[in-house]
Amino acid sequence: MKITVVGTGYVGLVSGACLAEMGNDVMCLDVNSAKVAFLREGGIPIYEPGLEDLVRRNVQAGRLHFTDDVAASVAHGDVQFIAVGTPPGEDGSADLQYVLAAARGIARHMTGRKIIVDKSTVPVGTADKVRAAVAEVLAERGVDLPFSVASNPEFLKEGAAIHDFMSPDRVVVGADDEYTVGVMRRIYEPFQRTHDRLMVMDVRSAELTKYAANAMLATRISFMNEMANLAEAVGADIEQVRRGIGADPRIGYHFLYPGAGYGGSCFPKDVQALSRMAGEHQLPMRVIEAVEAANDEQKFRLARKIVRRYGEDLSGRCFAVWGLAFKPNTDDMREAPSLTVIEELTRRGATIRAYDPVAMDEAAKVLKHNPRVTFVTDMYDALEGADGLVLVTEWKVFRAPDFERVRALLKTPLVLDGRNQYNAADLKAAGFEYEGIGRA
Ligand code: NAD
Repeated sequence: MKITVVGTGYVGLVSGACLAEMGNDVMCLDVNSAKVAFLREGGIPIYEPGLEDLVRRNVQAGRLHFTDDVAASVAHGDVQFIAVGTPPGEDGSADLQYVLAAARGIARHMTGRKIIVDKSTVPVGTADKVRAAVAEVLAERGVDLPFSVASNPEFLKEGAAIHDFMSPDRVVVGADDEYTVGVMRRIYEPFQRTHDRLMVMDVRSAELTKYAANAMLATRISFMNEMANLAEAVGADIEQVRRGIGADPRIGYHFLYPGAGYGGSCFPKDVQALSRMAGEHQLPMRVIEAVEAANDEQKFRLARKIVRRYGEDLSGRCFAVWGLAFKPNTDDMREAPSLTVIEELTRRGATIRAYDPVAMDEAAKVLKHNPRVTFVTDMYDALEGADGLVLVTEWKVFRAPDFERVRALLKTPLVLDGRNQYNAADLKAAGFEYEGIGRA
């Protein structure tokens, strides 16, 4: 099938490459011409495990193309997936300007029937707005062409995006007509494994499903973070509590890890957007608002532990930070908790020696205004002369470091484990001052 994907970010590029891998002829459009040129030269603008090989293979096979020419991309695909960003607007609601610009671009150049698919995370009612935008442009052009708008929210996780797209738990399709449903079924047929995972529903339910899923996951995190903070206060160990509650199949072990707060390009903005969406209907979202407030607070937790240990004035102090990306296996720094940790420590006078296996270039862009941050190319170099190690992102390389070496390099053998990666008793026996999250 001939497919166009609009937007070559984490979702667009992965979707385009995976659709090509299944034999489709895919054209990816981006307004960022530099990005398109880079992709055409064989570059991959983001870090995502396995993506480089997948893209290269499909480009070489002639099934995956990149363009910044809207007319060419519209002409290419009978199906046009919109996978552009939906960042938070000033009031926290999803900013739809890129989605609507993509829709108008399709309308300006289409000459025959198109299925337009919203893959971006968009508030309920967006498909109607996309439909109206397309209809308006077609009316301006004085042409009457058939088109439909479907919702197909994406559930992939950065860091495991290819696996998630190739082997989805479910594929949600919101569509109003049989023709569109039939085409979407054909596209996703190769991705169904043991059983049919395609869920066809009405468009509004599909749009809401994405927000409900992210809000539920964020709720679990904030719940566990608050429970961890309580565990610290009452002298309990959240890791034991986690095991105790996760064994209940109604609860389960997934997504029950306390930490330094959630970040990334999805949870913070989607939780906010969901609240705003409900607000438009005069519905308070008390749980969701609390989830957001608890998370905003949690991001300060690690810095507060340092202040409790060393006092408000941190001038002359240096801290090693391991892990900058908002989670392992990605270079995405959007809303990363490490940024709050670094900001809180440096504004009190501390300096930071930071290391991340892949996100340092991205981090350097975000932190370029902060002269107190030094990036080092070896994780152990970060520790030299530091008043403590702060583990913020649980990359595998940090799981079992050479603790003797860690101890020898640190000025003060303090380990603040923001992801409860280490065995507290072992570290204490090895002479470390150790603090995790929720482990009294
Ligand atoms: P991104 O910021 O990485 O990429 C968006 C891309 O769209 C950019 O390359 C940008 O240049 C391009 N773009 C913007 N306007 C365009 C236009 N009119 N025409 C062509 N290209 C255009 O975004 P992302 O992280 O891939 O997210 C895209 C959407 O998917 C968002 O709605 C997001 O909430 C959702 N989503 C993201 C993830 C994730 O893990 N990142 C997961 C599921 C859903």
